[in-house]
Amino acid sequence: MAVTRAQVKPAMQVPLLDLKPQYLSMAAEIHAAIEKVCASQHFILGPAVKELEASIASYSQCRHGIGLSSGTDALLVALMALGIGPGDAVITSPFTFFATAGTIARVGARPLFCDIDPVTFNLSPAALETFLEKHCERRGSELLHRGSGAKVRALMPVHLYGQVADMVPLMASARRYGLKVIEDAAQAIGAADAEGKRAGSFGDIGCLSFFPTKNLGAFGDAGMCVTNDAELAERIAVLRVHGGKPKYYHALIGGNFRLDELQAAVLGVKLKRLDEWTAGRQRNAAFYDQAFRRAQLEDAVRTPHASLGVRHIYNQYVIRARDRDALRAHLATAGVGTEVYYPVPLHLQQCFEYLGCKAGDYPQSERAAAEALALPIYPELSEEQLQYVVDTIAGYYRT
Ligand SMILES: *Cc1c(COP(=O)(O)O)cnc(C)c1O
Repeated sequence: MAVTRAQVKPAMQVPLLDLKPQYLSMAAEIHAAIEKVCASQHFILGPAVKELEASIASYSQCRHGIGLSSGTDALLVALMALGIGPGDAVITSPFTFFATAGTIARVGARPLFCDIDPVTFNLSPAALETFLEKHCERRGSELLHRGSGAKVRALMPVHLYGQVADMVPLMASARRYGLKVIEDAAQAIGAADAEGKRAGSFGDIGCLSFFPTKNLGAFGDAGMCVTNDAELAERIAVLRVHGGKPKYYHALIGGNFRLDELQAAVLGVKLKRLDEWTAGRQRNAAFYDQAFRRAQLEDAVRTPHASLGVRHIYNQYVIRARDRDALRAHLATAGVGTEVYYPVPLHLQQCFEYLGCKAGDYPQSERAAAEALALPIYPELSEEQLQYVVDTIAGYYRT
């Protein structure tokens, strides 16, 4: 009797992400930075936070950076700083991590969805334009969403997987309709369009995440808002400390949204290596692109599209795959880690039932949710591992 696949030990292990080699390559430097904070016992909004804010703002081509407790809190506080709340609506993509629309709902506003461009997985400028024309109307200086009567206040594009959304037309539409723009740049630190303009610098506020799986990952939760608007920067900084300014005097209701000094110290060390890691991810993506071409899997696998001249930072390398779930199970058996970002588009999440959306409303997002599969892409992978992933996928479709 032939042994089943499950009984055979995989020839290789390729985890979706392994943070250990990166850590080991810089452990001494990180320990020194942590020890420095310990010695100072300055844990809240100390010099490491300040320094990181300046470095990340400059890295993101923005004048101001405000260190925050997570990427989610960056989105939340950005909405709060723009005064978005009950009666308001914010337009975003349904094909993204939950926090994008979750934070809109948490400030009491209504998430409104526009479908994605199937090539880039990012918000489609054409879908946005159609939505603004067909479903919104100007009333005085306000833009109303006809279906709900909510005031449309802002656009929240997402730079999914590390590639900037098509910001030139998106910004043009937003400005024409008087909308503020909050970029969800959680997956896209340092990503740029063909003109070299970086994620977070297009709109009014850019939101970054330093969750450990992001390209610049902390040792826990952390995030940042970047902006070129000094007044917004000040508002965000005040909201971060419960809205108190001066301390214990509250013109605003904020929260505790602070970035820890320890996390900032770790991030400051890691930031120096970020470009090198990004180059590693890009090298791996190019290797995959070629290996898939050689394997001639065009009718089963679509490799990710990087628009001409853009700086894609490959937080994820996401293919579209025929029989995605079965392929994923096959890869798991062969020792290859994968993930589905994201299996349920946000308009079909149970918690958003009250929005009244139904299956079929955003067909490109629904198709992406059924076909997308993220492959291991972290910089320390070897070519043997990458080739093994492609060979294993080719093996699946050949049988
Ligand atoms: C990670 C992520 C967030 C949230 O960031 P956290 O730091 O995990 O709170 C928001 N939006 C997108 C698109 C993300 O990938």
